[in-house]
Amino acid sequence: MIVMDRVDDLRRGCETARHDGKSVGLVPTMGYFHEGHRSLMREARRHHDLVVTTIFVNPLQFAPGEDLDSYPRDFAGDAAAAESEGVDILFTPSVAEMYPEPTRTTVHVSDLTDGLCGAERPTHFDGVTTVVAKLFSIVGPCSAYFGRKDFQQLAVIARMATDLDLPVAVVGCPLVREPDGLAMSSRNAYLSPVDRRRAAGIFQTLREGARIVEHGERNARALRRALERAGADRGLEFEYVEVRRSSDLATIEHLTDEIVVAVAARVGTTRLIDNLTMQISDAGVTTDLGVITQGSA
Ligand code: AMP
Repeated sequence: MIVMDRVDDLRRGCETARHDGKSVGLVPTMGYFHEGHRSLMREARRHHDLVVTTIFVNPLQFAPGEDLDSYPRDFAGDAAAAESEGVDILFTPSVAEMYPEPTRTTVHVSDLTDGLCGAERPTHFDGVTTVVAKLFSIVGPCSAYFGRKDFQQLAVIARMATDLDLPVAVVGCPLVREPDGLAMSSRNAYLSPVDRRRAAGIFQTLREGARIVEHGERNARALRRALERAGADRGLEFEYVEVRRSSDLATIEHLTDEIVVAVAARVGTTRLIDNLTMQISDAGVTTDLGVITQGSA
């Protein structure tokens, strides 16, 4: 594995690989790797000759007062994890390398960024799409792997790639969970032991939502209310509980076809997000709870 921190080196490395007939798989991250990140690297490794993973804690996607400065970092651990997943290039640019001058250009995807996380974090997705567009431009034609943990982010990036004809195939990968169901996140490191136990209630609440739909509930508002109650019973304070059509995140009243139930919760001072998707038809309900890792919890 080669570690690079220069934009030009990464661009050249990818160009050379493609020139030699190799395909490129890209995994953009903010580091502090867990099994969710590793699953993306493995998926990229399975399909591509050259696997590039990037670690960049992007200031543009953090608002003042958010956790930019305290965001967990562990370069040595990340490098070891990336190497063991067979990553070829680990790109770890500095802020000055990515933004040598204050950027005057941002990428904005409308509508899809309005609600859900965009309501509480109005500038967040512009920061994400701007840095991901830069990475796509540097890496060039490739497949880029993103987790369905960040369901709205995936939808926004896929739409950006479509709208701008970017030569990138955006691939969504399964949400990976801890043994007790908590969605893996670098931010879980912030949780105190008490909050960590309470955070597992997010998954239990979503699973209860799935049971409610399996028992026949088809009204989106009723489902949201039931989820809010189920969360409150577990001591959870939701920032939002939303039920949307999964293809375009449109709001819906009647539950049918492919839907996503997405939540954000504050547990202590930590903001966590999670979601589950369901496919609803006359034949019944199929729920995608993600991948629950094995363990003793
Ligand atoms: P982050 O480092 O949090 O910006 O995440 C980098 C990539 O890993 C994004 O595409 C995330 O959606 C993905 N990711 C983060 N957590 C998980 C998870 N628990 N399961 C699957 N993918 C994840």
